[in-house]
Amino acid sequence: MDKAGTFHQPHWITKSSKAINPAAARVSAQIDRIAPRLPVIRRHLHQHPELSGAELATTAYLAKQLSDAKIPYLLGAGKRGIITGTAPAANSPAPVIALRADIDALPIAEENQISYRSKNNGVMHACGHDAHSAILLGTTLALHRAGKLPVAWRSIFQPAEETGCGAGEMVARGAVKGLQAILALHVDPTLPAGHVSITPGPQSAFCQDFVIEVRGKGGHGARPHNTIDPIAVAAQLVTLIYQAVPRQTDARDPVVVTIGMIQGGQAPNIIPNAVVMKGTIRSFDQAVSDHARQNIQRLCAGTARAFRARIAPVFDRLLQGVINDPYVTDICLKAARGLLGQHRVVTDRRPSMGAEDFADYPVPKCMMLLGTRSPREKITPLHTGTFSLDERALLVGVRIFVQILLEWPSKHHDLAGCRRA
Ligand SMILES: [Zn+2]
Ligand SMILES: [Zn+2]
Repeated sequence: MDKAGTFHQPHWITKSSKAINPAAARVSAQIDRIAPRLPVIRRHLHQHPELSGAELATTAYLAKQLSDAKIPYLLGAGKRGIITGTAPAANSPAPVIALRADIDALPIAEENQISYRSKNNGVMHACGHDAHSAILLGTTLALHRAGKLPVAWRSIFQPAEETGCGAGEMVARGAVKGLQAILALHVDPTLPAGHVSITPGPQSAFCQDFVIEVRGKGGHGARPHNTIDPIAVAAQLVTLIYQAVPRQTDARDPVVVTIGMIQGGQAPNIIPNAVVMKGTIRSFDQAVSDHARQNIQRLCAGTARAFRARIAPVFDRLLQGVINDPYVTDICLKAARGLLGQHRVVTDRRPSMGAEDFADYPVPKCMMLLGTRSPREKITPLHTGTFSLDERALLVGVRIFVQILLEWPSKHHDLAGCRRA
């Protein structure tokens, strides 16, 4: 939408989907109807961002649009998140595919001076989940109006992605029941709008956060020999972890350990009793992650002995990495190439060391990256107060989701061999 509110169809969409199957023409007409509303929906969500765990108004807004369109749905626990009823296929049995969008925002103050800037002080859609939600709502409305497809499908509006627990909540609510596959898009401000990135294999890192408490014995800063100085112990431990983990991991296996927080002490001349450190392990393989965790445990035990301190590391649940299933990814790739042209589909993106709870849906999956970089604005990364996106990408997102469902093989394909545990 431009400043005057006029909607322009992006020129990247090269293909008319009408030739693919009879459902395509009906869907295409409905997409044309919904297209001008996509920026309106996204801007509403952008103005009213809610933190992970508090997505009540966002859920209510999305639910109202579904109710108005007479689309059945189930609310998530605590009225956060939505799973729409499964839309049946034209013929049965048919595969059931889910489309997922995350709906939560971040504790970041928006710095953009725009007419639809966040009205919730200190909270911002700085990860593009407003765009994900608008794309999925638009897709859901268009597909429902268009009638039956060759496949059955449902939409999942998931809360609490940024805190890593929303996918589990949706799974507990029945989100993956009977699914053959699940698909998601994430905006990517490094990729120009009109492009997508669809790559098989690892997409995001295995992530395990931890807390290490170092307990010593406090005392006067002038007489450390009468104390067990936990700050000195913590400093030694950080250095050891940073040196030992990479040196004791096969260099072909990427792994990162970061201590992002150290807290301890109150005055320059007092040695405190304890120091608390918080950190995270990132890798692309569970065995590598487990090895790093065991290394940290061993270094904690050895350092504790060396300094006569007590060191207690506590590890959070291991968040799995997203691994794009080869069969599902191939279907997505073919649909995207047909829609946008080969040159606008990137297939060899290196995986991110970031974490993404899309991994927690225990079915074959594909996470696609949707280019949102505007040619007119400078790039600002995700999770910054100046993050923005080219809204023309919203329609590209809808078209991709729809095209994949239209082209999904209606014949049953056993994906058991591809499924991750
Ligand atoms: Zn994020
Ligand atoms: Zn995100």
